[in-house]
Amino acid sequence: MPNRVCLVHYHEIGLKGKNRSTFENQLVTNLHRALRGYDLGDIKRVSGHILVTSASGRVSDEMADAISRVPGVARVSLAYLCGLDQSEYCAAAVRSLSEAGEFGSFKVHARRSATNYELHTLDINRIVGSVLCDAFPDKRVEMHNPDVIVYVLVVQGSVYVYASSLVGVGGLPVGTAGKVVTLLSSGFDSPVATWMVGRRGAICVPVHFSGRPMTADTSEWLCQDIVEALAPSGTIGRLYVVPFGERQREISLAVPQSLRIIMYRRVMFAVSERIARIEGAKALVTGESLGQVASQTLDNMAVVNEMVSMPVLRPLCGSDKQEIMRRAQQIGTHELSSRSVEDCCTLFMPRRPETHARLEAVHAAWDSFDHESMIEDLVEHVEYRDFDQCPSYRAPKRWKRHHRELGPAI
Ligand code: ATP
Ligand code: MG
Repeated sequence: MPNRVCLVHYHEIGLKGKNRSTFENQLVTNLHRALRGYDLGDIKRVSGHILVTSASGRVSDEMADAISRVPGVARVSLAYLCGLDQSEYCAAAVRSLSEAGEFGSFKVHARRSATNYELHTLDINRIVGSVLCDAFPDKRVEMHNPDVIVYVLVVQGSVYVYASSLVGVGGLPVGTAGKVVTLLSSGFDSPVATWMVGRRGAICVPVHFSGRPMTADTSEWLCQDIVEALAPSGTIGRLYVVPFGERQREISLAVPQSLRIIMYRRVMFAVSERIARIEGAKALVTGESLGQVASQTLDNMAVVNEMVSMPVLRPLCGSDKQEIMRRAQQIGTHELSSRSVEDCCTLFMPRRPETHARLEAVHAAWDSFDHESMIEDLVEHVEYRDFDQCPSYRAPKRWKRHHRELGPAI
């Protein structure tokens, strides 16, 4: 029986001209990391695809599934790797089609990337097609819109035959779009927002503000579980946790009740931007969606946004909650986010938060406490945990030490 391998297809990175090989190499590196712990043989570039083989000669469905979750992967085909011998690849075609599930019609689609093979693609289509017609006499050959296409790809002395593929997550290989700091709560939205920018090739460094010591550290554990759910896709370098409870109490005592949330958020943005600068990240990311809750009106976004000078990306801005929940389900964070826990958001909440903050009132409240030393102190006391699944992540010089468990930066 021929070896079963994965052929990884990518479309967007095919369009990048001169950068193409950088993108392909990054994808190969990321696949290596994502497949640690699997029975991996080799990963190499083969004529516009990436070929993944396993040591045992038979790539498992689990391995194909792991590949499909790596950003940059458009499709993963489970292929039989054959020699140029006709009977061998015809038998593989029969096998592929018999494994393709329910179908009524099919066609053969041959391609050659090397023209030194004696048979033309039309000949290959005819030869393989007639073997399949004999093997599946009750199925129809359909040139337009067949249920299944049996691909026969001739590349450098080998023939790859496949009839089924998994849809990949798409996007771009992580490490090709720079680094971002994402504000991560344990809610539904921010894990999805983090995943979305990660899928576009960004290295993500989440920052979570917890209510510790005024609340338990449950939200910190939940955020770690969320990051663990996201990490196999290779998007996450490190999780920062900022114990914010004490400072929230100070703010709640100093400013009018209705402006508390805005003050918390201004501090959160300022601290996140400092961490971003230390990390060499070029943007902040939030899970905000326009008008979803009181704090997410345009007015409130504006008075919080003015705290920072780097771009703030809000990938969910135009999404409805239902869409976000569906995505959370797909990426494996839904169940975790549905556990309600205390974090800094539930702490010292006003009864009636301001929905349309006026700038003068915000500035007066902001100046009523020593925000600058508060921000500095919070940055000094961050804690972090490293996740070793993003090959492009480099820790900043200032916080070089590797933490397997959540621990203080200094
Ligand atoms: P989420 O579902 O992500 O918690 P939300 O609908 O609860 O969002 P808000 O509480 O207004 O909305 O938070 C808006 C965004 O602010 C979040 O998506 C997240 O990016 C950021 N944020 C909120 N709370 C925290 C926190 N404790 N730590 C870090 N970021 C936070
Ligand atoms: Mg929330």
